Amino acid sequence: MSLINQTHSTDLSSWVESANSQNGDFPIQNLPFAIFRRKNSDEAFRGAVAIGDQVVDLAALAKLELFSAVVQQALIACSQSQLNDFMAMPATTWSALRAALSDALASDSPLQAQLADTLIAQAEIEFDLPCRIGDYTDFYTSINHATTIGSFFRPDNPLLPNYKWVPIGYHGRSSSITVSGQDFHRPRGQTKAPSADEPSLGPCKRLDYEMEVGIYLGSGNEMGTAIDIDSADQHIFGMCLFNDWSARDIQGWEYQPLGPFLAKNFASTVSPWIITNEALAPFRQSWSRDPADPQPLDYLSSSNNSELGAYDIQLQVTLQTQKMRAANNPGQQLTKTSFNHSYWSVAQMVAHHTVNGCNLVAGDFFGSGTQSGPSIDQVGSMMELTSAGKNSFLLDNGESRTFLEDGDAVIMSGFCEAANATRIGFGEVRATILPAKV
Ligand code: CA
Repeated sequence: MSLINQTHSTDLSSWVESANSQNGDFPIQNLPFAIFRRKNSDEAFRGAVAIGDQVVDLAALAKLELFSAVVQQALIACSQSQLNDFMAMPATTWSALRAALSDALASDSPLQAQLADTLIAQAEIEFDLPCRIGDYTDFYTSINHATTIGSFFRPDNPLLPNYKWVPIGYHGRSSSITVSGQDFHRPRGQTKAPSADEPSLGPCKRLDYEMEVGIYLGSGNEMGTAIDIDSADQHIFGMCLFNDWSARDIQGWEYQPLGPFLAKNFASTVSPWIITNEALAPFRQSWSRDPADPQPLDYLSSSNNSELGAYDIQLQVTLQTQKMRAANNPGQQLTKTSFNHSYWSVAQMVAHHTVNGCNLVAGDFFGSGTQSGPSIDQVGSMMELTSAGKNSFLLDNGESRTFLEDGDAVIMSGFCEAANATRIGFGEVRATILPAKV
């Protein structure tokens, strides 16, 4: 099974010169989607595709009527302030628009003059959420993360017996998902120290980030009808970087018996760009299960999933404290890992989520769960870096941290590299913690 086509060719270059730089995030092979408008304007938000340091304004492009009927319909859908209608279209329509944009932005395109009029510099724009996120489900697919976190809460029983059979998840809250650059206040909540007799209400003292991959669903399924594991690609629109902020002290007191609640629903931040599933094709890898572990049930298993189920997405977390910002220090990288360590694949998440007949809708969103590789410099949360707050770590500028402090900015970035493919980037997701509101 090959998912590679002409739009992935390493021979392609663009007449937008900035797209051809060696380590850029947005070469012509990427073409990710976002919702944008000019900064400090009252323009309507509308769809864009990134190319180099520019964006193609898709509403402006729709007005030019340069393409086939299918592509024109896609562009009209992308002219709206949310991408849901476009995401609900068949995967063949997503591909048709990508192919048309790839041709039109390629070095030898006869459409260069017309498209040049639709370009806006990324430095001049601001973002909104790319779509109306309907339901948000957070998975728990990193076995390294699950084992380490489990050992803090349940030292004798870190990994529960269902973990190796079920892609574990819970239903989160979408109203507090915001786009990169939107800061938020430290949450308040009810906590109870182990030594205290009673809980108390106050600002969270153990605020953490979670480095996750966000997955946007496109066309959904009828309620009562499952999505087969081999059909999952037709329903996965694309991916982003996702910081699922977490209040560990609130979590510790509230999580039993029903799981996460107020520890998780006060803020989560997405990167502005959706990297399409199609753009990620060259970075897919074989997915396998350790022969010593239980093999997945039939509905979670297929030869396509074994061949191409994993995505090699490099993920990194940078912390920029207020002091660093004042010193023009861009921040210090804390960890780096890859999504290919995930115990469960994205197709397995889709198959499992719908196996009971649950219907997914265009614009639904999955968090992958915190992604942690096997070693300490690959962990996706501070909880793991500091052994649940037992150890602080020293930063290069002399500051130290156990959990996040007010004024800290967390920046996550991601990219994909592979032999015989052009590197593509995810951009970044960034937000700064403001003091708790009193
Ligand atoms: Ca999470």
